[in-house]
Parts: sequence; structure tokens; C-alpha cells
Amino acid sequence: MCCGPCSVVPLKQTLKGSLEVCGFFYNPNIHPRTEFIKRLESVRKLSRLLELAVISHDEYDPAPYFARLGGTDKKSIPTEQRCASCYHERLRYTAKTAKQRGFDFFTTSLLYSKYQNHELIVDMGLDMERKFGIPFYYEDFREGWKSGIEESRSMELYRQKYCGCIFSLVERELHKRADSSSAKEAKASSGRAVMGLTDKK
Ligand code: SF4
Repeated sequence: MCCGPCSVVPLKQTLKGSLEVCGFFYNPNIHPRTEFIKRLESVRKLSRLLELAVISHDEYDPAPYFARLGGTDKKSIPTEQRCASCYHERLRYTAKTAKQRGFDFFTTSLLYSKYQNHELIVDMGLDMERKFGIPFYYEDFREGWKSGIEESRSMELYRQKYCGCIFSLVERELHKRADSSSAKEAKASSGRAVMGLTDKK
């Protein structure tokens, strides 16, 4: 479970069937720690609402994530590289834990997101299936995208504004700034247009 909102559709769709489901929260690279706690709390809230058992990795330790990317001093890491490493670690740890605890399958709420590399997640899930000897449960949860958003709102789950790691947070801030300067420019030029009209009167 990457977060509460992304888990609504996978859990509800899966729960509707005959499977007995257990959640698993492992997201140590969320930045900053306060955001990690908000996402963990939202998963806990969802688990209460759905009466779902959740195994959660409560320890916040992004150091191994940065170590895999080659250190903390990098200003930016290409999205493909950092996301591949992120998917890999989450799926690896999920498959390993599922196998150790005797589950029959594992899957991921990452398959719900329209913003993730769906095909790469599937490939990595299948890799982990081979590596740990536990089947990867695949379903295209993106089909429930809209209803997942509506339902997470009605459940009043915390909805994050960026993917999770520090790089995605920086990207979001840069987009916000770019949007606000274009809005200011648009306002200024519309102001000039009005003044122009006024001058012509
Ligand atoms: S953008 Fe999201 S998927 Fe990619 S590395 Fe950051 S947290 Fe992981």
C-alpha cells in the first residue's frame, strides 16, 4: 500500500472476491518524515474502515534509497532511474515478506496509479514472483481511477499532493512556481489589454 487513497480500489475490488487480504505498508523514502506519518495514518484509517489487517513498516529510513541512487548529494536523478529503484525495492520487500509469512500472492497499489510506469511495475512484479517463488497478482486497478478518487474523498482520507520522494516534492514545487508565474504574466498581459482598450476610447 503506497498510501490510503491508492489502496481503496485495489482493496475493495479484491475484497469483493473470495480472497482474504492483508495490507502491507512499506514506504521508507517518503519525504519528509511528517509526510510519511500522514500517509501511514491514512493507511491505518483505511484499515479501520475496511476492517483490514495491515502489516506496517513504521520505521522511517530513507538512507538505503539514497544509497541505491548513489548518495544524497545529487541535485536530481532521472525519473526513470529513481522510480525503477523505488518500485524494485517496494516489490522486493513485499514479495519477500509475503513469502516469509506464508501468503499465496502479493500485489501492489502502484498498479492503481495513472502516473506510474505500469508496464515496468508488472515486469518487476513478475521478476519478484520468480525470485521469491510467490505468484504476483495482477489487475489493472487504473480502471477504477475516478471512483477511487471519489471514494477516498468520501472516506476523508489524507490525499497527498506529490508522489513521495524528495525529488517528486521538488518537482511539484517547481511546477507550482512555474504555474504561478505564468498566471501572473497572463494577468499582467490581460491588464495591459484592458489598458490598451481604455487608451483607445
Ligand atoms: S517519484 Fe514516486 S515512484 Fe518515483 S522514486 Fe519518487 S516516490 Fe518513488
